[in-house]
Amino acid sequence: MKTKAEWQTLSENITLRNQAYIGGRFQSAVSGETFKTINPATERVLAEVASCDQADVDLAVAAAKAAFVSGSWSGKAPGERKKVLLRLADLMQQHRDELALIDTLDMGKSISEMLSVDLPDSIDCFRWTAESIDKVYGEIAPTVGDTLGLISHEPVGVVAAITPWNYPLMMATWKLAPALAAGNSVVLKPSEKSPLSVLRLAELATEAGVPDGVLNVLPGYGHTAGKALALHHDVNVLAFTGSSRVGGMLMEYAGQSNLKRVWLEAGGKSPMVVFEDCENIERAAGTAAAAIFSNQGEVCIACSRLYLHNSIKDRFLKALLAATASYKGGDPLDPETRMGPLVDKAQLDTVSRYIKSAMDDGANLVTGRIPEYVEGQGYYIEPTIFDGARNDMRFVQEEIFGPVLAVCEFDDEDEAVRLANDNRYGLGASVWTDNLSRAHRVSKQIRSGMVWVNGWGGGDSTMPFGGVKASGNGRDKSLYSIEKYTDLKTVWISL
Ligand code: NAD
Repeated sequence: MKTKAEWQTLSENITLRNQAYIGGRFQSAVSGETFKTINPATERVLAEVASCDQADVDLAVAAAKAAFVSGSWSGKAPGERKKVLLRLADLMQQHRDELALIDTLDMGKSISEMLSVDLPDSIDCFRWTAESIDKVYGEIAPTVGDTLGLISHEPVGVVAAITPWNYPLMMATWKLAPALAAGNSVVLKPSEKSPLSVLRLAELATEAGVPDGVLNVLPGYGHTAGKALALHHDVNVLAFTGSSRVGGMLMEYAGQSNLKRVWLEAGGKSPMVVFEDCENIERAAGTAAAAIFSNQGEVCIACSRLYLHNSIKDRFLKALLAATASYKGGDPLDPETRMGPLVDKAQLDTVSRYIKSAMDDGANLVTGRIPEYVEGQGYYIEPTIFDGARNDMRFVQEEIFGPVLAVCEFDDEDEAVRLANDNRYGLGASVWTDNLSRAHRVSKQIRSGMVWVNGWGGGDSTMPFGGVKASGNGRDKSLYSIEKYTDLKTVWISL
C-alpha cells in the first residue's frame, strides 16, 4: 500500500477525463456548458466537466441504438463478449490505483476502502458476470400438438443507467457488467457529484474491445441529462440506483414516454437487531460501528437503526463507543483513514439538520455533534450516536445518508420484529442471535430484500443485492441481474 505522500503526489499528476464519451470518443457537451466537480476533502475544483442535456442524450442514444442494430456487440456470441469483458476486468486491475484515486478525490471515500472494497468488488462483478454469460441457456417448452416452442433470452436494446455518487465506480459496474454481458448497448449517466471514474472506465472498455457506441457516458445533472434519458423513446430499459424520491419520478417518466422497463435500487433505513442471546457482543458492536460509519454513513445498506435488547444495552453501548473511536474523520488519501468527508456542503447541511432534529425530539446524544463547518477545510463530520431513540422520531424514520446512528431498545422478539419492520424502506437488515431457530424465524419475518445474520454487508457477486418496499424492485449482482437486461422471446415452430 502506498503512503499518504505517495497518493498525494499521484493525485497532483493524475489526468482526469472531463468530457462526455459518445460513440467511442470524448466530446464536449453540445451546448458547451460545464459544471464543476470538487474534492470534498479540500473543496478545490477537480475538473470542469461537460454538462450534458437533451442534445447529448439524443446523440448518445442514437449511437447506442446504431451499435445495437449493427450487431457489432449484440450479435457477438456470448463467449466472445465474455473475452472482451474479462479483458476489461484485467485492465481495471492494472489501473486499480488510478481508478481508486479518482473516486477518492471526487467523492471523499477513503483510499483504503476504495482498494479493499470498491475496486475488488467492481472487478469481480465484471469477471463473474462475464464468466456467467455463456452458461445462460434457453428452454424448450412442453407445448401440445405439432409445435416446438423455443424460449430464449434476448438483449433488450438500449439500456440507460443512472447512478448515485456514493460508490461511483461500483454502482455503475453493477449495471454495466450484466447489461453489456447480455449484449445491450448502454448510456450511463453518473451522478453530477462524482462523474469522473466512469469516464475513465469507458475509455478502458474501448481499449478492451467494446465496440464504439456500445458504452456511452454522459456526465450531467439529473433534471437535464437524467430526465431526458428517462423520457427518451429509444431507451428500452432504465436501470437506476439512487433515492426513492427520484426513483418515483423515473417511473412517471417511463409512463409518460414509451413504458420502458424501470429497475429501481433505491434508498434504505436498515435495522440492526441484537438479541440478548448474542454471544459475541464485542464483534456485534464492531460490526454496528462499521455498518453506520464506513463510507461516512453514505451507504444505502447502512444500519442506521440499532435495536438492542434492554438487558444488553449498556454493555453493548460501551463496546460500540470503543469501536467508534477508530472512525474519526481524516484525509481520505491517508491509508489509515477510515472516514473521509461527506460528499458536499448540501449533504453536510442535510445531515446537520437531522442531528438537530434528533436533539429537538429528545434523543440523548452519546457522541458526536452538529458539525462546525469551516470554509475550505472539507465537509467533515464526527461519528454521531443517539441513545433513547424511538420509532416516532423523524431521524429514526428517514434516510439520513450520513454517520448518524439511532439506538432504540426492545423487550422481546415480537417487539423487535415490529420495530424493525416499522419503516417505509426494506433494503437490508442485520440480526444478531446465537439461537438458530430465532435466526431463521426473525429473518423470515423481516420485510427486506437482504438479511445478514451475525454480520453485515460484504457479500460477493453470487448473491442478489436489492430491496423491497420503498427500497425498490431491482436486484443487482448474481444471475438474476442478467434477467433485468434481457427479454424473453418465444418462437413457435409448426412441425
Ligand atoms: P439521487 O436520487 O439524488 O440521484 C441519483 C441519480 O439520479 C443521479 O445520477 C442524479 O443526477 C439522477 N437524478 C436526479 N434527479 C433526476 C431526474 N429528475 N431525472 C433523472 N435522473 C435524476 O441519489 P443520490 O443522492 O445520488 O444517492 C443517494 C441515494 O442512493 C440514497 O437514497 C441511497 O440509499 C441510494 N442508493 C441505493 C443503493 C441500492 O443498491 N439500493 C445503492 C447506492 C445508493
